[in-house]
Amino acid sequence: MQLLLGFLFAIIIALLAYRTHSLNKSGAIAAIFTGTIIFGIGGWQWAILLLTFFITSSALSRAFKKRKLGLDEKFSKGHERDAGQVFGNGGIATAFAALHFFFPNELWPWLGFAAALAAVNADTWGTELGVLNPNSPRMITDLKKVVEKGTSGGISLIGTLAALAGSALIGILAAFLNPITDSGSTGIIVTLAGLAGALFDSFLGATVQAMYYCPTDKKETEKHPIHTCGTPTVHIRGWKWLDNDWVNFSCGAFGVITSLIIKGLL
Ligand SMILES: [Zn+2]
Repeated sequence: MQLLLGFLFAIIIALLAYRTHSLNKSGAIAAIFTGTIIFGIGGWQWAILLLTFFITSSALSRAFKKRKLGLDEKFSKGHERDAGQVFGNGGIATAFAALHFFFPNELWPWLGFAAALAAVNADTWGTELGVLNPNSPRMITDLKKVVEKGTSGGISLIGTLAALAGSALIGILAAFLNPITDSGSTGIIVTLAGLAGALFDSFLGATVQAMYYCPTDKKETEKHPIHTCGTPTVHIRGWKWLDNDWVNFSCGAFGVITSLIIKGLL
């Protein structure tokens, strides 16, 4: 019964998101799948965490449009998410909601679920609000090399604080909505894990994420095979399979691992 309600609720949300151009068609279908599992197996507490991520990140990707004009195509790609982005951002959280079915009285599925969402939320907030930083970002790997705004692997003070805030929002909700008894230190664990995931995302962007070059615009891009301007892009560095969706997936995974390690230590 709850699964059926979850399915109906997921359809409503996916349709709304499709209508408002937050998701394209493949993204909406992927969202119905992930939403059904998270709402249907998890329940309303799980739904609130997922929707907090989805609504705030969709809103932030639309905000500050003027400041993002002319920046990296990460922004000019538009805000319609496809299935790859939905699974990249929500795949791990979905898996932990499913695990809750098998371990209904254990805390760790909730912790993993919240940590995965805190990480991708932190990453999105950091990316979208980082453009407000007055100075250009620096590469996370040495903190010295100044790079153009929007460059993968670049971090700034405002961006990092925004990532912390995005993570803390999910952490606070995870503590208050904890459906399992013994919430204890959930809030702080999820917050730290989320920030760690977002920093790991930047680290991958600076090192092994697949990067391409557009000969027309003479700039680095994540876009492949075709740049937003229509020119085919050339691979210049990184692992070819590690595209932006897999980096987001890794961001969530790193958050989960961090949360489970801290939980084990506490
Ligand atoms: Zn181009």
